[in-house]
Amino acid sequence: MVDETAFGTRDAKGDFVPDQRVGYGPLFDWPTKPVTIAKWFVSFPGYLFPWNALYFGFAAVVWFLLTPSMSTVASFAPGWIAIILVRNLAIIGGYYSYFHFRYYVRHRQGTRFKFNERWPGDSGRFTFGNQTRDNVFWVLASGAPIITAWEVVGLWLFANGHVPWLSWTRSPVWFVALMLIIPIWREFHFYCVHRLIHIPFLYRSVHAIHHRNTNPGPWSGISMHPIEHLLYFSAMAIHWIVPSHPLHMIYSQYHLLLAPVPGHSGFDRYELGKSRAFHTGGYAHYLHHKYFEVNYADGVIPLDRWFGTLHDGSAKATSNLRSKRSAAAVADVS
Ligand SMILES: [Zn+2]
Ligand SMILES: [Zn+2]
Repeated sequence: MVDETAFGTRDAKGDFVPDQRVGYGPLFDWPTKPVTIAKWFVSFPGYLFPWNALYFGFAAVVWFLLTPSMSTVASFAPGWIAIILVRNLAIIGGYYSYFHFRYYVRHRQGTRFKFNERWPGDSGRFTFGNQTRDNVFWVLASGAPIITAWEVVGLWLFANGHVPWLSWTRSPVWFVALMLIIPIWREFHFYCVHRLIHIPFLYRSVHAIHHRNTNPGPWSGISMHPIEHLLYFSAMAIHWIVPSHPLHMIYSQYHLLLAPVPGHSGFDRYELGKSRAFHTGGYAHYLHHKYFEVNYADGVIPLDRWFGTLHDGSAKATSNLRSKRSAAAVADVS
């Protein structure tokens, strides 16, 4: 058991508050520090490990072993589309269930490092009156078919030469560079879509489904309204414009599908054995679910810092947010 008091404190409500503030890694620090960036790139946890490398592993298995041939996907047919849907459902279901069962059913580390001391449960605001049932429903009934549609169209475009195909043998450097850029593109795209769906009209009719989860768990990650799924997964359309390979597209796809799990884990750290615990990176987005109009992005680009919406987890950031809200309320009344 790892002692969480070495990494943070509990507030009056019993919620875990990490000592380490929300940050972005060194990629956009100025003046630039190449050695620090290189170390961060390969450290654990860092840019590549564990998460981005894991998502790439999933993408490689899917592309090399679980995707029909290009000649098959060159024309639309129910058979191969159904295979892709079942494969996506199985991987999403298996991956999300693993984290849910480990941390929310078997309680492998209890509430150690859990931001919200309470466990998600029943509430009338959820579909079927229960957070997990609600989340599983929106992920599998809406998320899986919509990502499958994006993938099917993308594969068909590649197979028919309608989108620019990047060859590994002719452009190995750009092939690898693009793979490394994909998570950063994803982050920028997510920020833009996320700001859009926080416009009050879209928030009420679309994004509110995701924000039912004020105490998120893994399944909350892509528990979204179908219109949000359509917009969120549209990051894959970059592969219709920028020369790339289907492996890049499938990496984008599995990044979109799996990266929300640590972001909605509800835990600041996952324990590794009896004495180590590593960052999930989920604190920034947990604060978004708690305070709504902060931390629209999270990851390596300091977008929220640039646009004044960063909540770094400190008491000062909370009191600044409260003053901003009171000022806005006064302005509304007058
Ligand atoms: Zn979220
Ligand atoms: Zn939001």
